[in-house]
Amino acid sequence: MINVTKTYLPDFDQYVSYLRKIWDKSLLTNNGPLAQELEQGLKEYLNVDHLYFCGNGTIVLQMALKLLDEPGEIITTPFSYVATTNVILWENSTPVFVDIDSHTYCINPDLIEAAITERTRAILATHVYGNACDVEAIEKIAKKHNLIVIYDGAHAFGATLNGRSLLSYGDFSTCSFHATKLFHTVEGGAIIANDAKWHDKLHLLRAFGHRGDDYYFVGINGKNSEVHAAMGLCNLPLVPQLIAARKAVCDLYTELLDWNHLEAPQWVEGLGRNYAYYPVVFESETKTLEVRDFLVKNEITPRRYFYPSLNKLPFLKDAESCPVSEDISLRVLCLPLHAELPHEDVRRISELINQIL
Ligand SMILES: *Cc1c(COP(=O)(O)O)cnc(C)c1O
Repeated sequence: MINVTKTYLPDFDQYVSYLRKIWDKSLLTNNGPLAQELEQGLKEYLNVDHLYFCGNGTIVLQMALKLLDEPGEIITTPFSYVATTNVILWENSTPVFVDIDSHTYCINPDLIEAAITERTRAILATHVYGNACDVEAIEKIAKKHNLIVIYDGAHAFGATLNGRSLLSYGDFSTCSFHATKLFHTVEGGAIIANDAKWHDKLHLLRAFGHRGDDYYFVGINGKNSEVHAAMGLCNLPLVPQLIAARKAVCDLYTELLDWNHLEAPQWVEGLGRNYAYYPVVFESETKTLEVRDFLVKNEITPRRYFYPSLNKLPFLKDAESCPVSEDISLRVLCLPLHAELPHEDVRRISELINQIL
């Protein structure tokens, strides 16, 4: 059975040596030494100043939205994982969907201004598959209309744009360190702020909004544990080699697949890819499902990612129509990809797909 992804597990004894340190100190959570060490390592790897290691990639989005002065309309992308929309609804705001660019699959900046009203508070866009949103155009619009920019960078770890971590753009970027992601801490996430003025608020927000007996505002439990940090400390030094191994898998797919009948996203100029996903777009939904069923019959599980287009979620009423996102989401599959995927499997998967094409 070949799944769409497989969690990378570091050396067992190394992980146990971290567990030993945890046992020695009897300190399991509350911003302990390993969480702090991981936070420091992540700041250095990403070259950012204000990064907060948190419980998962969803709570960090909620924390970012919590920093807005009040709920309102949030301009967002329909082509992302459901968490991106859920957090907006969870925080009592209204998602306003703006369609994606047909080449990059990230939010189309040319359509953003028409969606801005006096209730708009922020733009929440996703760096889909580790591709970069048009950060310059979005920043310009946000400045003009005084909006906060939040990037859901759950796919963006290890990717760079013009030599800078993709996670360093926007007012806030968030990341997920879930076990299915390129770099993981089992469960985990981080929020990165680009301005020191948020430091104290994010610190407090992550830990119930109080410091000792001083209570400042409504916070939440956004913390993560020493046990999770230990997994991150094992995995972080391996990121460059994991990305290199993924690149080799992606390059082989690119070489072998029949591109007369397939499309892929256009990676933006200046992007240093992280090879987090391998999406392919077929000619029709029928073809997509035919390929998926054929692969499943051969014990290979690709994933419809993302499907459905989020403006089509059944619990949303009267969401904006987004023809490009709706179309792509019907025709896209992410192929199996992880650092340890044997190249002979990539050959077999490619051959099976080409057969159907
Ligand atoms: C994985 C993911 C999330 C959620 O992250 P968790 O750590 O699972 O909470 C949010 N947005 C996107 C785009 C994701 O891929």
